[in-house]
Amino acid sequence: PALYRQRHQFVIDFVKKNQPRKVVDLGCGECSLLKYLKFHREVELLVGVDINGAKLKKHMHDLRPVSTDYLQPTFDQLRIELYQGSVTQNDTRLRGFDLVTSIELIEHLTLPDVQRFSEVVFGHMVPVSVIVSTPNSEFNPLFPGLKGFRHHDHKFEWTRAEFQSWALKVSAEYGYEVEFTGVGEAPTGQQERVGFCSQIAVFQRLKGRDDGNILFGDDAEDEFSYTLLYSITY
Ligand code: SAM
Repeated sequence: PALYRQRHQFVIDFVKKNQPRKVVDLGCGECSLLKYLKFHREVELLVGVDINGAKLKKHMHDLRPVSTDYLQPTFDQLRIELYQGSVTQNDTRLRGFDLVTSIELIEHLTLPDVQRFSEVVFGHMVPVSVIVSTPNSEFNPLFPGLKGFRHHDHKFEWTRAEFQSWALKVSAEYGYEVEFTGVGEAPTGQQERVGFCSQIAVFQRLKGRDDGNILFGDDAEDEFSYTLLYSITY
């Protein structure tokens, strides 16, 4: 299957195994991951955030229920919301989720914005689990004719060591543990040397940090920096 499908399948497999109830996809773009996730009935709240409001408006109607959705008897408790906003800004409505996904997003941010992203996701949203995927630059020599980055909008592409050093640092700082994997295998014999085409970090919040269940103080100032563009209750 195409690489983007493999990345989305990775998230779907994680959802099947871990059964998160509230999921937010950061940089959801054309909403294709959300479209797959809405079929997983453990999920009660599915949120997408993207800085590109026009892109969201173009694709959001694909998230509306189709008649067959109601043929599944237990398909009742789903709400989908789409926000236009930047992952460099806090929004109180995104706190307390079970899973945050960020698929091929961070490489579109400048390094100071990656720092803000880390603070927003791990310091403000404080989800139970986080999945981050980004290109692995060590794989690039296997693309014939590729000079520079895989996409003109990429601000960087990291080696495995660079990605792991960022991920280990945020884990230590915010109380998470992290495991590394990826999708898109190299030809036989080269896998170990170049790694996966897309590298993936899976973070889990350490239990000791807040007994697994974070209570957010009511006294904290609410910050609503995102704009709700679409919401639907199934
Ligand atoms: N996650 C999708 C996927 O896997 O197909 C889309 C990935 S696309 C390469 C990157 C997306 O990140 C774009 O839709 C872009 O608009 C969005 N994006 C870039 N900077 C952002 C920011 N600061 N905040 C939120 N979204 C952002």
